[in-house]
Amino acid sequence: MRLVTSSEAEDTTLTAVLSAEDLAEELGLDPHARVTCGLHRCWLHLCVASPAHVVPLTGHRWCRPCRRPLEVFVDETTAHLSCPECGTGTPDTAANRQVVRACRTSIAAMHAQ
Ligand SMILES: [Zn+2]
Ligand SMILES: [Zn+2]
Repeated sequence: MRLVTSSEAEDTTLTAVLSAEDLAEELGLDPHARVTCGLHRCWLHLCVASPAHVVPLTGHRWCRPCRRPLEVFVDETTAHLSCPECGTGTPDTAANRQVVRACRTSIAAMHAQ
């Protein structure tokens, strides 16, 4: 018996979900549906602000009309995307909704310890 700190418990969950999603992705899971990041090896909302998460081709974290990346703001429960160019007119596309939905799930999963 030993004491397990909350950060250790968190790491265990993250590691488990990461490897489950790695496998699921190989089997056909949409990489953008993941709540962990296969590139940065952490919960999605912790690295979604990285330039690597801007995908102009698919429109994830991307404003098509302005042709520029959306900024991301993450709070305790969700993520917000906003375009520095058109501001309030953030494109409500399926791809951007998917980014927000995946971040919400990842935030919830991290806090569910
Ligand atoms: Zn990442
Ligand atoms: Zn825009």
